[in-house]
Amino acid sequence: MKRILVTGGAGFIGSHLCKRLVRDGHDVLALDNFYTGSKENVWDLLREPNFELVRHDVIQPYWCEVDEIYNLACPASPIHYQYDPIQTTKTAVFGTFHMCGLARRTHAKILHASTSEVYGDPSVHPQPETYWGNVNPIGSRSCYDEGKRCAETLAMDYHRLHGVRTKIIRIFNTYGTHMQAHDGRVITNFIVAALRGEPITIYGDGQQTRSFQYVDDLVEGMVRMMATEDSFTGPVNLGNPAEFTMLELAEMVVRLTGSKSTIIYKPLPADDPRQRKPDITLAKSKLGWEPHITLEEGLQRVIDYFKERLGRE
Ligand code: NAD
Ligand code: UDP
Repeated sequence: MKRILVTGGAGFIGSHLCKRLVRDGHDVLALDNFYTGSKENVWDLLREPNFELVRHDVIQPYWCEVDEIYNLACPASPIHYQYDPIQTTKTAVFGTFHMCGLARRTHAKILHASTSEVYGDPSVHPQPETYWGNVNPIGSRSCYDEGKRCAETLAMDYHRLHGVRTKIIRIFNTYGTHMQAHDGRVITNFIVAALRGEPITIYGDGQQTRSFQYVDDLVEGMVRMMATEDSFTGPVNLGNPAEFTMLELAEMVVRLTGSKSTIIYKPLPADDPRQRKPDITLAKSKLGWEPHITLEEGLQRVIDYFKERLGRE
């Protein structure tokens, strides 16, 4: 049994990760300031003797004894991270700084949850880890993109300078249960609109692409990455290479929900990447990992989840 700290543990991905780690028999401590996460996400875990939840803002240091740290705290939806962009940068940078400091003091492994956003609006397609990205440093997405890039820098410098056992994963668009109905991300927006029979809003012409991975596939990749040998830092892309346009996604959601919703178009937000698809060659070879859940299967699970939740409203 390991003592494992998960920052952002009450969030969408964090709560699924905590569940897996608790189920595997570890002693899990989740830190969260509930900015975008909620106790409801970890409700079932709260009665488990090997799970604890602590309200804490990672902008401040936190001290405890741990063997492994999963550094997830940071809002991930554009509407949330742009709501208070200075707080977002501070969370990404100071949060990682404090967790690297904790990893250094306790000799813990630290897995940093980075993002495909470090590739910006990519000019290389699909994106391998060796691609350095095309990021606007002063735009409305920069608080998140540059915050996450700086966090990667910190994690690598703690590794080089202090021998911290750093692991970096770059997560591509992930979806699943425990997402908030109003978090503004495309999958929740489309599903909630379709279930309510409201128009589905596509930003731009709908020809921009994303690659969507179901959260269970991601959690498996995270656990495998943490288990790699100390010398392997990554970064490693974790994502599902199946690429869809937003129009294809909207049509699939309409079909799976049997909705009568129409599709309408609104202007594309600033700096919205045109395309995104992971090259997962490294994850396959180093982690023996690849995603298994298709978009259709995953969407069906999320549709069932929101049917139940919206029915309670
Ligand atoms: P989320 O918003 O559901 O979860 C983030 C969690 O961090 C929330 O519980 C929130 O309350 C908490 N948090 C935010 N600021 C905090 C602070 N200052 N102190 C303590 N807790 C704080 O988002 P998510 O989708 O679960 O993302 C989790 C991580 O994965 C993030 O680091 C995100 O950047 C990364 N990621 C997610 C995706 C995705 O598609 N979901 C893609 C790439 C990277
Ligand atoms: N998008 C959309 N309608 C929505 C929400 C998002 O067309 O209601 C588009 C958005 O402009 C982007 C894509 O869907 O091109 C994915 O958006 P999301 O915010 O989920 O993720 P990110 O842009 O961070 O990859």
